[in-house]
Amino acid sequence: MRAIDYVAPTSLSEAVSVMAAHGERARALAGGTDILVQLRSGRREIDVLLDTKQIPELNGINLNDSGLQLGAAVPCYRIYQDQAVAAAYPGLIDAAGLIGSIQIQGRASIGGNLCNAAPSGDSIPPVITLGGEAHINGPNGWRTVAAEDFCTGPGRSVLEPGELLVAIQLPAPAANSGTAYLRFIPRNEMDIAVAGVSSSVTLDDSGQNIVSARIALASVGPTPILATAAGESLAGQAVSDEAIAEAGRLASEAASPITDMRGTIRQRHHLVDVLTRRTLNIAIRRARGEE
Ligand SMILES: Cc1cc2nc3c(=O)[nH]c(=O)nc-3n(C[C@H](O)[C@H](O)[C@H](O)COP(=O)(O)OP(=O)(O)OC[C@H]3O[C@@H](n4cnc5c(N)ncnc54)[C@H](O)[C@@H]3O)c2cc1C
Repeated sequence: MRAIDYVAPTSLSEAVSVMAAHGERARALAGGTDILVQLRSGRREIDVLLDTKQIPELNGINLNDSGLQLGAAVPCYRIYQDQAVAAAYPGLIDAAGLIGSIQIQGRASIGGNLCNAAPSGDSIPPVITLGGEAHINGPNGWRTVAAEDFCTGPGRSVLEPGELLVAIQLPAPAANSGTAYLRFIPRNEMDIAVAGVSSSVTLDDSGQNIVSARIALASVGPTPILATAAGESLAGQAVSDEAIAEAGRLASEAASPITDMRGTIRQRHHLVDVLTRRTLNIAIRRARGEE
């Protein structure tokens, strides 16, 4: 491993000017659970590692009437230990509580998970189904990108050289809404998802009819996938096994998996169908306040 300059700016403007000065030769460090592994293994070569842990805008959790502003460097444990956030966004907690292990969750951030842009990133599907937006700052100022448009390929994102993800903004949960995330791994923990699915639903006041739904998939394509047709198929439907089964079928159709050492194309299509039905049922129970 070659020598790398380490900088730890205390303001966003300082961080952006360092990032801009070094372009593709600089990389941000949040928890370091991806980037340090990549640098040590030689998969990435850079000159400057910019620690984001001392930049206030990247380390805040701000929950208010308009939703949650989650600083890009906030580690998972701070998210699920925040009772108000955990109560408002259980679908996000499903993912934050299963990334790696307790030790990994002490460092790993949702922002780092998104910027790493792995198709298997567990927190990305719930951020997508919750209507998340990435707030980005760089040499050309601010811009906002919908979470479903953030990842552009395995390990690639819309971030331009010099840009930093500052925060992820989630809208306030609608009344009668619920979200869930589940993944399949062949062992209990510390593995990459063979497939993962997040479902969000909003029900009407009776709790019997679906107003809208969003479904997003992990590990079954080159990027996390928003399964648009599957979510839209549920809008205006009464809650029923048939409607949920049809959404599972459409979500499976939206997947474009590969066969690798973790699973086959056929298994992954099947898993998306099963996990979609399961996450929809959990999301519906959460929307009704039943769990
Ligand atoms: C043992 C182990 C188990 C793991 N298990 C899981 C798992 O179960 N599920 C899963 O999804 N992942 C898992 N991972 C991967 C990793 O922990 C997650 O992707 C984590 O969320 C990354 O967050 P981080 O804060 O550590 O990111 P970092 O490693 O600090 O950064 C990740 C990438 O994002 C970039 N970056 C970080 N912050 C910013 C920013 N503000 N602006 C621009 N770019 C930025 C970095 O330059 C880097 O390229 C595991 C990793 C390990 C080592």
